[in-house]
Amino acid sequence: MTNVLDMTKSLLPVASKEKQSRILLIDDNDSLRLISKTALSTSSFIFDEAKNYLQALEKIKQHKPASVILEIQKGNLDVFDTCRLLRSNPILADVPIIVTVELDDTNSLQRAFDSGATDFLVKPLKYSTVLYSLRFILRSAKDSSEIRNNNIQLSTVQAMARLGYWTWDVKKNIFKISEQLADLCNINLINFDQTLEGFLHLVEPNDLKIVKHRLQEASFSDSVQSIEHRLQVIDAKSIFVHQEIVRKSTNGKLIITGTVQDISQRKASEQQIHHLAYFDTLTGLASRTYYHERIQSFIQTADRREEKFAFLFLDLDGFKDINDSLGHNQGDELLKIIAARIQNEIRDVDFAARLGGDEFCILLSGIIDDEPVAEVACRCLDQINKPLTLSQQQIRPRVSIGIAIYPRDGDNEHEIMKSADTAMYAAKKAGKQCFTFYTQDMALQAVSRLEKEQMLLEAFEDKQFMLHFQPQISMKTGRMVGVEALVRWRHPAEGMISPDEFIPEIEQLGLVTQLGEWVLKTACEQMASWHQSGFPFIHVAVNISALHFQDTSLLSTVKDILAKTGVPAEYLELEVTESAMHVEECLNIITQLREVGIKIAIDDFGTGYSCLASLKQLPFDSLKIDKVFIDDMLTNHHTALLLGTIIGLANALDYKIVAEGVENNEQALVMHGLGCHIIQGYLFGRPVSSDEIPKLINFDFSPQIETEPVR
Ligand code: C2E
Ligand code: CA
Ligand code: CA
Repeated sequence: MTNVLDMTKSLLPVASKEKQSRILLIDDNDSLRLISKTALSTSSFIFDEAKNYLQALEKIKQHKPASVILEIQKGNLDVFDTCRLLRSNPILADVPIIVTVELDDTNSLQRAFDSGATDFLVKPLKYSTVLYSLRFILRSAKDSSEIRNNNIQLSTVQAMARLGYWTWDVKKNIFKISEQLADLCNINLINFDQTLEGFLHLVEPNDLKIVKHRLQEASFSDSVQSIEHRLQVIDAKSIFVHQEIVRKSTNGKLIITGTVQDISQRKASEQQIHHLAYFDTLTGLASRTYYHERIQSFIQTADRREEKFAFLFLDLDGFKDINDSLGHNQGDELLKIIAARIQNEIRDVDFAARLGGDEFCILLSGIIDDEPVAEVACRCLDQINKPLTLSQQQIRPRVSIGIAIYPRDGDNEHEIMKSADTAMYAAKKAGKQCFTFYTQDMALQAVSRLEKEQMLLEAFEDKQFMLHFQPQISMKTGRMVGVEALVRWRHPAEGMISPDEFIPEIEQLGLVTQLGEWVLKTACEQMASWHQSGFPFIHVAVNISALHFQDTSLLSTVKDILAKTGVPAEYLELEVTESAMHVEECLNIITQLREVGIKIAIDDFGTGYSCLASLKQLPFDSLKIDKVFIDDMLTNHHTALLLGTIIGLANALDYKIVAEGVENNEQALVMHGLGCHIIQGYLFGRPVSSDEIPKLINFDFSPQIETEPVR
């Protein structure tokens, strides 16, 4: 024993740095086990002992061994049975089991391996070599376990990265694909026929040419070939893959190998990002970004073919009112419908985009003359104007369209858009719900917004505003019953500018209250002045912007002005659009104004979107029926019917009704017939300066009304 110990000591390999591995020694011979243990214990290993399988199990539960040395002579379970049982224990799955065999007993050796042994030691054990063998066995066990783990990891990673690979022995045409690649294509690896053709069969037919091309290139070149293409997936949608293909020449064999990664997800997000950038999320129409790109290609195509194209700039009329009165959700709903209607009116070769807010554009290619462009514009006006229901209310959206032709009205993106925009403003000015082609002299009128802002500020300072008054005539008496005050901007250089052109800017600049107060004061001073000249008080209607109604000082301002000018409240009427009637604070102010005796008129009735039934609940005195109805009434049977209903209801509720924008006799007579007896319009007079009014006070308008029966 001592000898053995001494001997082993001297032969011990340097063990200090070794990690202490546990070795389970299973030996049914007590004395031999003791010898073995004592001989080996001086090494860095820790030895656990067991006499048989059951004891071994106990030890394993306490400590997982790094290796098992198995030596069984007799007993219920022989060495092979024990080995088999140990091997089947999951804890020992990757633990080397070493059996001891007689030197020439190959039969036992084979049986030992069959029953799961990893290695063997020859009996009798030479302890000096046992330690080396143990170390060697343990190291290779560790390596193989690492490799096994790495393989598992690798395939997990590959599966997670949706990464597969293939190798192709070109000469023999053996094409092997990895399990992951087979998985990607949803095929069973066993069914893959292992030829290039078999692989190409998996490629999406449209991408076949490019894939073949890259494979060919790879066989001639040393550089890595990259390609993105689609693979067909059995029973599913094809997937996008990224392939890297490289040539490897080994021992004169030409092997081409490729990695294949599924990038469908990335492609999908790319597409989504593309869609987000290129399409308007609300309406699904092309976005402004997309528009910038497309107009360049329209320009290039037009230049190349020496053709023209048309730029239609569309801007909804009164969209703000819808947002204000029906809320933003309904506003969004409307934009969606409009977008669909626009898209419907254009051919595949044309292009429509939402430029922002309620602004849209249409590009029409291959234009020869203005005629077909006008037809498209007409169709858009008609289609957009079709009735639709929002919040249970029927509305008829209106739009103004400006048209510019490339290259005639601008030979680059900026110029052509500017011209279309200028033409659109001209369309708004011409009364909205119409289209206008750009003309040279519009450019002179179109001053930049900044210049306009500066000019407006000066207008206040230099008192460039003035009031005109338009008479309102009673069809019953032929006499003037009141006037509407309409502001004008008398610009020193530009001449008379219409309020439609500057009120929106005034609102944006936050000057609307200032202007409103000036109009109120001037109108009342004028009323007082007419009165002082010996005329009875004239009813004057003053337009108040909906924004001004949100100003809480409005009530006191009006009271102040009335007090200072001495005008009785009942002669003053404030005109307000329907949209203001939907704001709680405005309603409060309106109620208080009426308590003072001031009259309230709903302006532009029919263009806003309030409900007919809500008329009963609103605090007002008169209703001004918009020009749109008047224009439409003689040709559209439905409009006449609707007007009849509105007028009937308003009369029943005892409201004063005024028809606006009446330009001819027929319109006046029909309105009169329907029960609207007060008429305002060019038929009886345009808005005129204050000194023209006294002449009209006692003027008899009856001869202007031809009383022949209306057809
Ligand atoms: P509105 O209140 O609807 O005024 C009626 C508009 O129709 C006036 O245009 C008037 O000149 C025009 N008009 C009247 N009869 C006829 C007709 O028979 N045919 C045609 N084609 N037009 C007719 P105007 O003066 O250019 O005013 C435009 C708009 O500017 C007004 O529409 C009103 O909304 C606004 N506005 C005018 N003055 C003021 C003001 O003092 N304050 C505010 N906040 N807005 C004002
Ligand atoms: Ca008005
Ligand atoms: Ca009006």
